[in-house]
Amino acid sequence: MTMNEDFPIATLRQGAQGLMIEEIALADIAARFGTPTYVYSRAALTTAFNSWRQALAGREALVCCAVKANPNLAVLSVFARLGAGFDIVSGGELSRVLAAGGRADRVVFSGVGKSRAEMRQALDADIACFNVESAAELDRLNEVAGEMGKTAPIALRVNPDVDPKTHPYISTGLKNNKFGVAFVEALALYQRAAGLPHLRVRGIACHIGSQLLDPTPIQEAASRVLALVDRLAAAGIGLDHIDLGGGLGIRYQDETPPTIADYLAPLLDLTQGRPEALFFEPGRSLTGNAGLLLTRIEYLKPGEEKNFAIVDAAMNDLARPALYDSWHAVIPVQARALPPRRYDVVGPICESGDFLAQARDLAVLEGDLLALLSAGAYGMSMSSNYNTRPRAAEILVDGSTAHLVRERETVESLFKLEHPLD
Ligand SMILES: *Cc1c(COP(=O)(O)O)cnc(C)c1O
Repeated sequence: MTMNEDFPIATLRQGAQGLMIEEIALADIAARFGTPTYVYSRAALTTAFNSWRQALAGREALVCCAVKANPNLAVLSVFARLGAGFDIVSGGELSRVLAAGGRADRVVFSGVGKSRAEMRQALDADIACFNVESAAELDRLNEVAGEMGKTAPIALRVNPDVDPKTHPYISTGLKNNKFGVAFVEALALYQRAAGLPHLRVRGIACHIGSQLLDPTPIQEAASRVLALVDRLAAAGIGLDHIDLGGGLGIRYQDETPPTIADYLAPLLDLTQGRPEALFFEPGRSLTGNAGLLLTRIEYLKPGEEKNFAIVDAAMNDLARPALYDSWHAVIPVQARALPPRRYDVVGPICESGDFLAQARDLAVLEGDLLALLSAGAYGMSMSSNYNTRPRAAEILVDGSTAHLVRERETVESLFKLEHPLD
């Protein structure tokens, strides 16, 4: 593996005690808290958020962290203290934001399937905006708000039908997927919304996909959205904000995503001088390279065709390789003067798809620790209990302090809600 440049995680480095994140040795974290364990860097989270904010300096703008990328309460509270907004996709995520000290009036609520109960919860909290994704949702929201004697602030999530050139499972802005309302229907839907008594039209939203590396599709989407905003204005529907979603990609291997500033510059040019505030909903670009998954090698299993390093983390902890064939750097925590061997890094789960990395040259022994990098987004948040595996602990490193921000689950906690027959 070629990983002699800087690590994608800026606060990770080789130190005297092996790999260090901020001022703490990963070996110490493993000794104190066990493995597998997610480890996040507060400094890296803060730097990422501040890069968004600095790039938007001088503009009326709100950075709404996508909660689903990393919903840990401590991670959310780092962003809340920095003044972040939040993009939620469920009532559960709203509860998390509020528990973490986030402000409801900076929350936007996305998602195609909002239930009445979720609408009531969000109206009760007075969130900033519902990003509505269908005509039926407009009607339901109007009804629920009316019952509560409230007015619901809305944006329509429009589907600009541009190809984000990313993995099909994370591309969301094409005509053939379930998200957003079609461009051709948007004007009529806005007119309908404007006529509903318990809705107030506030903005427009789009989100074309995730792990965007080419900045052109979002610029194209933004141009289309702006043309629509002008058509709406001509029809007497003025908007307060334009939400351009999330999606900015990160470096996992050798990708060269635009910097946050380079990603935003053309969008800021396009919207220069406009009266509407700008909203963004970044997830991966805030947390992805602020976290890693720490795991220990249980066995080395040489084979005729392949060698396996069987580790104590698995696809239930980090689903992305199995789900999207994604690549995560694998770095031994202690360097060894051994000839490297080529391994597939796999977990203990009874599925052939249970791999975390394939064909990596590693100089390792049984019992060694490995760090799987770029695991701060869609890592823990997509984890499961498959194979009755308690979920990993989560640690937030802040300088030389390691905070245990989520305890490792216990097997008893996994079946606490179940009832055997007596
Ligand atoms: C998932 C999601 C995001 C965040 O996407 P990233 O690629 O992690 O930046 C933002 N907005 C919406 C509506 C989403 O579904």
